[in-house]
Amino acid sequence: MSTIMAEKQLNMWACGTGREFVGKLATEKENVFLHIPSKSGRQLIVLRDEPFIYIGHFLRSGMKPCTGDHLTCRYCIAGFGRKERFVFSMMDARTKETGIFEVSDTTGLQVLRKMDEWSERFGSARGLAFVFAKEDDKKNGSIGMKCLDGLGGGSDLPDGPDPQHVLVKMWTQPEKFDYKDLPKEIQP
Ligand SMILES: [Zn+2]
Repeated sequence: MSTIMAEKQLNMWACGTGREFVGKLATEKENVFLHIPSKSGRQLIVLRDEPFIYIGHFLRSGMKPCTGDHLTCRYCIAGFGRKERFVFSMMDARTKETGIFEVSDTTGLQVLRKMDEWSERFGSARGLAFVFAKEDDKKNGSIGMKCLDGLGGGSDLPDGPDPQHVLVKMWTQPEKFDYKDLPKEIQP
């Protein structure tokens, strides 16, 4: 299947019309989430110019996508707050591990602003290096960023994973819904 056709199918799903392409995505190479350790920072390099931005609900088992408004999304109905999430395609500068990297809208906008500056000057932000670190060294602390204002990774940067493909594939695995995430009073 061509990339354009795959994108079309993805957009169809985003409108809620079906899950028929999941099997095709499942044959892709496994992609990983890049995490920031609590005790030290991590230097990451931008691999794709376009981030994926979505609205999510923060549950105990992790971030879950909002599937609509208060009438159709079970997490909205249960009263969970909605948060904008930014997901980037990145590579660890030291280990060369590639993956997707998800941050809050605050950090995401700071990263995007720097990427846009570089894109305006050089036509792309690919290779732009950042250091990310957890604030207060807490396990769930928010992630702060510092742009190194320089290119990393050398001249042979790999293609980064498409954050939208990775997340949609994860979200469409049917076993991912966990009733324990819901408040006790509305659990079955
Ligand atoms: Zn929702």
